[in-house]
Amino acid sequence: MTAITALRRATAAPIRRGIAFSAPKSTTLTHRALSTAPHITIDKFISNVNGNHFEREVHRHPNDVHERNAPYTDESSRTVGSITASVRHDWTKAEIAEIYSLPFHELMYRASTVHRMYWDPAEVQQCTLLSIKTGGCTEDCSYCSQSTRHKTFVKPTPTMKVQEVLEAAKRAKDAGSTRFCMGAAWRELGNKKNAFGHILEMVRGVNGMGLEVCCTLGMLNADQAKQLKEAGLTAYNHNLDTSPEHYPNVITTRTYEDRLQTIANVRDAGISVCCGGILGLGEKESDRVGLLHVLATLPEHPESVPINALVAVEGTPLGDAAADDEVDSDGIANVDAFDMARMIATARIVMPRTMVRLSAGRLSFSDAEQYLMFQAGANSIFNGDKLLTTDNPAFDEDQALFQKFGFVGKPAHAGPRVAPMEMSGQVEITHVSGAEKQYA
Ligand code: SF4
Repeated sequence: MTAITALRRATAAPIRRGIAFSAPKSTTLTHRALSTAPHITIDKFISNVNGNHFEREVHRHPNDVHERNAPYTDESSRTVGSITASVRHDWTKAEIAEIYSLPFHELMYRASTVHRMYWDPAEVQQCTLLSIKTGGCTEDCSYCSQSTRHKTFVKPTPTMKVQEVLEAAKRAKDAGSTRFCMGAAWRELGNKKNAFGHILEMVRGVNGMGLEVCCTLGMLNADQAKQLKEAGLTAYNHNLDTSPEHYPNVITTRTYEDRLQTIANVRDAGISVCCGGILGLGEKESDRVGLLHVLATLPEHPESVPINALVAVEGTPLGDAAADDEVDSDGIANVDAFDMARMIATARIVMPRTMVRLSAGRLSFSDAEQYLMFQAGANSIFNGDKLLTTDNPAFDEDQALFQKFGFVGKPAHAGPRVAPMEMSGQVEITHVSGAEKQYA
């Protein structure tokens, strides 16, 4: 879509809805459609510095972990047209399966509408993931190139130095990332006192740069979670990967319950939870529904749900199994853009206030396929040269992608934008009585 077409669309919709506008002095609009409509005044849209798309006046919800539910305290549901959504924790598997199984066009329409009820679809967060300690992990995750149990191309490396990590974070920030995630190939943090001390330093340093800081370090106990929180950790990633039923087929060295305990420790420490899964682990569609059911029935939905496509790596059990199947040139086995979009769309509907992150495997999808995923409700990507040990599009390609789609990055430590649909009064919000409040 050309810039002028984008401008046309940005200005046409509110005019049809009969919203009154008045033009601020700073407005630099030159578009013909506006100049031929002198009775229309503009105050909601201003051109951005590049003049290639419009930015709306921005209002944001609180971001603090203790305040983020405040605007929703007495909210029951949101409705636009025939579509109603709410933040629920009592989903049944059958309900989620029904959504997951909708005809694709209907699922996409619903998810896209729910996305617009709660979010500004123009805002997409860019995150960078750095492997601060690669390989040599004793766990047996059958998809992972970093396990010592699998013969893969990965050579174990020692933990990176604090300064190296901070330099990488600076590069990521300069390239537009607002969340910096550090991953270590471990079963658990355990008694690694020295390494933990360095990691706390890294967290403080990255936080000091104004970036959101995330870690993925395996299992954590409650005290470690507390120390990370005190050091300034924003979020902790710990994926459930798949359904409880399929999980033992993928990993045997730690249980689903172990993972849930780490997530609870993170939550109790007041750290934002990032927890999602991987498609392509040999799971059935019922396992995809099962994973979403676990996530959507947690006492609090994760603030962040990454959806990954397995990148099949030679030497891993799942990689080798995939080699017998159809694997595309990027190593993605048995997962197509429609699978990803269906999973993202279902996640968006059942956890409407969660940030859904398009994660590993993104490289294998075309821009058009990725757009399908954003339409389904994804609102974050991982960028950078590496996503742990697999390729990820270069930063500048992502900038081009953002420009093409008219996306803007989400600032660090900022609450979500109030949805333009909400601001314009198109979302009907119903409230519960004080006695029935969903959140304390
Ligand atoms: S725990 Fe993490 S690093 Fe270790 S094998 Fe599993 S996925 Fe790989």
